[in-house]
Amino acid sequence: MPPLSPSSEKMQFQLNLRQRGISDRAVLKAMGDVPREMFVSSLDRADAYRDSALGIACGQTISQPFVVAYMTEQLQLKPEHRVLEIGTGSGYQAAILSRLCRDVVSFERYRTLADRARLVLSDLGYDNVEVVLGDGFDVPANLGTFDRIIVTAAMEEVPQALLERLEPDGIAIAPVGPHDGSQALVRFRRSGKAFERQELLGVRFVPALKGIAREL
Ligand code: SAH
Repeated sequence: MPPLSPSSEKMQFQLNLRQRGISDRAVLKAMGDVPREMFVSSLDRADAYRDSALGIACGQTISQPFVVAYMTEQLQLKPEHRVLEIGTGSGYQAAILSRLCRDVVSFERYRTLADRARLVLSDLGYDNVEVVLGDGFDVPANLGTFDRIIVTAAMEEVPQALLERLEPDGIAIAPVGPHDGSQALVRFRRSGKAFERQELLGVRFVPALKGIAREL
């Protein structure tokens, strides 16, 4: 088969997401609008629209598009929402979120990744994303609370202190499980002082680690 033209490649990309069960039109549009090739390593450009995770700098990964779309859909974003992401990585997930809500604050523990993501996001004009070099286990209190929280690195447990940063009725989604095994995507919904917890699918993410990385 001849290689697909860029636009039919994108159509196929959106079609695959639909076939895998993504139905939120705004999410599908964002997945179609954001150029994933800008977020992958230059060597992987040709594979940017394959449904697979890819390696990025600092031994980290850009998540599989289906998982990005799925987590985004599960967040039930509204245009007025303020969203916290832990694990900027390439900045791709933050870019998708930024098309669907008011503001994104995204934490990354590697300076190299934070700097690179900031650059790509600003080149694309996605100026409602703030990338912070910092530890997502220790989000400064002065950043307040969020309507939604998305964690894109595996946590053995989601700290209660992080869930407490949700607004009433807020939703958080995180891969939860051992660092060296498979994890489950877990969705938390704040209901008064309690949190409803629902396990969604099995996933595999790189681990969430404490502190800012000492390596660049
Ligand atoms: N959302 C990213 C993929 C995330 S990979 C994307 O769309 O490309 C997970 C990222 O989480 C890695 O870059 C890793 O460095 C970062 N990370 C791990 N623990 C963290 C922590 N405690 N605080 C902030 N970032 C963290």
